[in-house]
Order: sequence, then structure tokens, then C-alpha cells
Amino acid sequence: MARVETTTRGFGCPGKYIQGPGELKRLEEYTSAYGANVFVLIDKRLYDTISEQLKKVYENTSSKLVLDKFTGEVTLGEIDRVTKLAAESKPSVLVGIGGGKTIDTGKAAAANLQIPFISAPTAASTDAPTSALSVVYTEEGEQTHCIFHKTSPDIVLVDTEVILTAPVRFLVSGMGDALSTYFEARANAESDYANYVGKGYRRTKAAMAIAKLCYDILIEDGLEAKLAAERGVATEALENVIEANTLLSGVGFENTGCAAGHAVNEGLTVLAETHHFFHGEKVAFGTICQLVLENRPKAEIEEVVRFCLSVGLPTTLKDLHVEPTYEKLMAVANRAAIEGGIAHAEPFKVTPEIIYNTILATDALTTLYKKQWGYEA
Ligand SMILES: [Zn+2]
Repeated sequence: MARVETTTRGFGCPGKYIQGPGELKRLEEYTSAYGANVFVLIDKRLYDTISEQLKKVYENTSSKLVLDKFTGEVTLGEIDRVTKLAAESKPSVLVGIGGGKTIDTGKAAAANLQIPFISAPTAASTDAPTSALSVVYTEEGEQTHCIFHKTSPDIVLVDTEVILTAPVRFLVSGMGDALSTYFEARANAESDYANYVGKGYRRTKAAMAIAKLCYDILIEDGLEAKLAAERGVATEALENVIEANTLLSGVGFENTGCAAGHAVNEGLTVLAETHHFFHGEKVAFGTICQLVLENRPKAEIEEVVRFCLSVGLPTTLKDLHVEPTYEKLMAVANRAAIEGGIAHAEPFKVTPEIIYNTILATDALTTLYKKQWGYEA
């Protein structure tokens, strides 16, 4: 993406967003609106439980269910496999149930078959459920490119009870990802960069309001939501945060754009030691880096760092198991500031040296805060 050429605004979002306890058990009600043949791709971690549940849901209905297990990586090969397998049953709708990768694969297969797609996330940890794009990887798990689809999912179906069965770390990581949405939107607004809708347009006022609400909900309800999830119970705070992590963050980022926060995350992925950290955990650190890069008011930086510490998101290089050597941080910075990358959506010139300096300065600041605020001796 680049700076927009016109003043035309663009906004895209899923057809419907539905969130509440037990909604997955009502899947047949939603799929039957499209037709009788339903193809469902399910995450392998949850395949046994969910496939049994769905068989019960669909028995004694006029709908015909075909189930498939997602192999674990969004590769062109896996998308092709799912497309071909699904085509055999001539489905009228395709459903993806699982994490971001299962959903992105289902989305791409549904696009290939030109049929409606329903995404049903099993954790509130990614922006995949609402977006019109699939992130593709190699067999080895390295990100290669994005496929931009013509439309967003027809329905996003979020079952709060299912979300509660996922480890709480997923919810917290989703908050880390959602934390970046407003600040990256603001950077894109300042640089007047194109969003990710179609060919790329100026962001709407609605998109900016969504991004800001996403941040406000995290600050207001984030900690309460995490504590409720730890006890395995749904509360209004938890529902708000699931909505922020899934709908507001998803629709927010797509309609406003990413910037340095996600660029630093992309940079961190070059270090093997960060591979066991979730996307949103790296994005949380990246978001603090972005605020330091932009030299935002101290109160704003402190609010973000305090939030991260309160819910247990990483704020320092040590938290991310990264040794601050010149070679490692320069490798991160080179990837983060890669030519044509999202770091250049910042409203000023960004170079690898500037990112390197920012990461070290951020780490110094957050390490000090952790000590001052009693999070570390
Ligand atoms: Zn993200």
C-alpha cells in the first residue's frame, strides 16, 4: 500500500457478525439459509469434539454435512486440497471452524469455489474471522504472501462458550493484537495511507471510531475479561473484549491499515526464539515500540504499558526471550523496515537504524517501568 491518490473513502466488513453463548450449536440455522450442502473445515486440535457435536446438530435436518480436518498450515497446497475435496460435495456454503489458519484456508477455498463462507473462530486471538484476506505460509511456516478475496466472510459466528474453552493466553494475545489497531489507524490517518479494502481507499470516519472504541474497551474491560475467562465464565466485560478482539480489531485494521506495531512483529518473526510467542504478544511489544518511535505523550505510553503488564502481555525483549545483541536487533529492524512494508505507513521516514534505536529505547523504558511499578525486582 501507499499514500492514497484520491479522496475516495472505502469500507468493507462481514455480512453479519453474531456473538454469544451456544451459537455454534445453531450452525444449521445459519447454513440452511444458503442451501442444504454444507462443507465444514475444522481445526485438527478440536476436530474430534466439534465434529461429534455438529453431527448431532445436523442429524434429523434436511442439511447434508461433509467434514474435513485442517492439517495445520495455510499453504497453497492445503488450500488446493480443501478446494478439490469440497468441490466433490458441491457445497452451497463453506464453514471454517478454528484458529486464524483454519479460517484463512476455508476462506480461500470458498473464494475458489465462489460460494458463501462462514467463519467460526474458536479463540478470540486473531483478526482472521472478519477479514477478506488469507495469509499464506510455506510448509516450514514462513509467511509468504496474502491473498485478497473479493468479499469478506458472509457470517462471522462467535460462540462465547467455545471461546471460553480455549486457553486464556489466546484471549490475552488477541488483546495484544487489538491494542495496535487504534494507534496504527492513527498513524495511517496522519500519513494518509490507503487501507486494505479493495484497491485501497481513504479510511472512513466509521473505521476510525471502531479503532478507537477497540482501544477504549481494552482499557476499560481487558483485565476484568481476563479474570472472568480464567474462571471460565462469560461476563459483559468478556463479551466486550471478545467483540473488541474479533469484530473491532478485525474490521478496524482492514479499514484503517497497519503500521510500525505490526512491522516490529514481522521483524521479530525472523528470530526463532520468538516463534513460540503468539502473534498478538509480539504485536503488543511492537505497539509500545510504535508509540516510542512516534514519541507520543508519556501518559499515553504509560497507559499502554500498564495495560500490557496488567493482563500479562510482554513489554520487554527479555519477556520475548530476545537477547539484545546488535546482530539480532538489526535483523529484526531490517525485516521491520523492509522496502514496501507496513512500517512506511508511519507519517515520517522509517529506516532499519531508526527501528533498531526504537527497539532498544523501548526496552530500556519498559524494563525501568517494570521495576518502578513492582512487576520485577
Ligand atoms: Zn495482527
